[in-house]
Amino acid sequence: MTALYVSLWEFIVEPAQAEEFQRLYGPSGSWVALFRRAAGYIDTLLLRDRADPHRFLTIDRWNSADAHRAFRAAFSREYAELDARCEDLTVRESALGEFSAPVTANRPEEMIPTPRYTGGCLCGGVGYALSAEPGPIEVCYCQMCRKASGGPLATNAPVAAAAFHVSAGLELLEGYESSPGERRFFCRRCGSPIYSQQAARPEVLRVRVGTINEPLNVRPTASYYTGSRCNWWEIHDALPRFETE
Ligand SMILES: [Zn+2]
Ligand SMILES: [Zn+2]
Repeated sequence: MTALYVSLWEFIVEPAQAEEFQRLYGPSGSWVALFRRAAGYIDTLLLRDRADPHRFLTIDRWNSADAHRAFRAAFSREYAELDARCEDLTVRESALGEFSAPVTANRPEEMIPTPRYTGGCLCGGVGYALSAEPGPIEVCYCQMCRKASGGPLATNAPVAAAAFHVSAGLELLEGYESSPGERRFFCRRCGSPIYSQQAARPEVLRVRVGTINEPLNVRPTASYYTGSRCNWWEIHDALPRFETE
């Protein structure tokens, strides 16, 4: 059983550097950008002490302790570089601890749960479990989805990042930024596309539902980017169609 992993840090910031600190540690900052390159990152909350404007906390949420560990191993150089770059911003920084969400508390979708679905890549190296029902399946004919899949379309469904649990091969999951702020994660051994994640909404993943093992309850609801469809592919379904998004 995996559990939500939370890492808590406290910072005492140099008074003259408070703005710069918030820029680097906030939701559009360099730390979040680095975390987002890894699989299993959910989000970061930056908090400022109401009584002491130079004291901040960060709360980083990951799908599992394994996801966080894999991130530290895979990005140790980038982490050290960024850490060095931030050194002058703070008077002191301390790790307050690592936490997991107790199974009986908090929001049920963040618990781990009996998986509703399992999935994985072609070579079997990457495995995952979904503890929530995916949202409606979107059929996408855009050129990027075509290239990523090698076929005329992709079938993607939104799933809460907290409900997506990598069960194997976290180190094989590689992210590629196909357009600014959007990363597509795939198995670097066999190339299977697994999901995508937008920097602006890291709490939602778009899973490539063809990689799910079991029959699904959800169905496709609409087709997007039909204006980019290949000329050799006819659409024979009755789904609503959108030329773009
Ligand atoms: Zn694979
Ligand atoms: Zn697409």
